[in-house]
Amino acid sequence: MSISRRAFLQSSLAGGAALTAFGFDVTPLYAQARTLKISRTSETRSTCPYCSVSCGIIIHTLGDKAKNAIPQVVHVEGDPDHPINRGTLCPKGASLEQEISNTRRLLTPQVRRPGSDHWEDIGWDQALDEISRRVKTTRDATFVEKDPQGRTVNRCEGIAWNGGCTDTNEFNYLVVKTMRSLGVCYLENQARV
Ligand code: SF4
Repeated sequence: MSISRRAFLQSSLAGGAALTAFGFDVTPLYAQARTLKISRTSETRSTCPYCSVSCGIIIHTLGDKAKNAIPQVVHVEGDPDHPINRGTLCPKGASLEQEISNTRRLLTPQVRRPGSDHWEDIGWDQALDEISRRVKTTRDATFVEKDPQGRTVNRCEGIAWNGGCTDTNEFNYLVVKTMRSLGVCYLENQARV
């Protein structure tokens, strides 16, 4: 009997019975592989941070919770008991484990200077200094105390804030307090749980 590799894989993965071209039922194999992957993990129920659908997730973490053990997230999946998504996740949610473990994550601030064609790493202190200086300069240059009718408005029209989808409630709370104290009125963030 001759069978192509593609046909072999297709017949192995297709349908509920999961029979290979040779008649083996590989369903128990898949179930066991899955069991092994998460058999020693702790489960933590949480909420996907990416959008305001707020799907329920289960985070699987390796580590025995001893003080000298560094926990490691090894798998994130949809929570089958969650009323919103009932175990399903969109591609963004399904890639959540990568948000934690991907080695290409940026871990330092970066800046692209005017006229430059590349980003450069800078330290946190330098980033905060540079941001503070620009905020002060821009606010001083664009602050409006009174509108054309002479009414006091005290607003900064030269700065805007746009929040990202992974910003938490707590982060957004601080952003609103900070931006409002600067007089910034162009302010948006994503609704979070
Ligand atoms: S899994 Fe997708 S749809 Fe659900 S909250 Fe996350 S990003 Fe939104």
